[in-house]
Amino acid sequence: MDAKIGVLALQGNVSEHIDAFLLALERTGHDATSEVFEVRSPADLADCTALSIPGGESTTISRLIDKNDLHEPIRQFNGGIFATCAGMVLMATEVADPRIHPLGLIDMTVDRNAFGRQCESFEIDLPLNGLDGGPFHAVFIRAPVISRAGPSLTVMARLQKGIVAVEHGKHMALSFHPELGNDTRLHERFLRANSL
Ligand code: GLN
Repeated sequence: MDAKIGVLALQGNVSEHIDAFLLALERTGHDATSEVFEVRSPADLADCTALSIPGGESTTISRLIDKNDLHEPIRQFNGGIFATCAGMVLMATEVADPRIHPLGLIDMTVDRNAFGRQCESFEIDLPLNGLDGGPFHAVFIRAPVISRAGPSLTVMARLQKGIVAVEHGKHMALSFHPELGNDTRLHERFLRANSL
């Protein structure tokens, strides 16, 4: 199937996600009929077979999702969603921050900024269940964790503070930033899970 990957382009690491998905599409043998493009409106979303919600500032992205009338269309979206960092916060059913209006698409509780100030950013080689080719070099930037994962989720990775990578059907949610660097294994895995 042609992949039409939309990257939610309201705030955050938009261009990095576009580049990473373009590379992942190339590496999985897609031709020029597959595309990656920015999503800012319900009409843009209607053209997508899958959506990426990038990292950034989740309170801002949440406000802009509501302002652009995207909350319900994203909730009703049929394809998979690849959500990283702030994107993961938005996918949750529960977030203990009244400024966030979560999408409620993955049955989980997410704690924002879970690694605290002194350790706001770090990088580690993270083993991920089911990912071939060795640990993933994961960059955490003021990262959230999943403090409660519903029974339907597949946990891919966990650190002492909590769960940092899950799959839920066609969706994937990650605390870290797989779009930084050249390793597209997680993007490729997401494409496969969506038959793209
Ligand atoms: N701490 C940010 C938030 O909750 C997320 C950080 C990120 O996406 N890099 O919005």
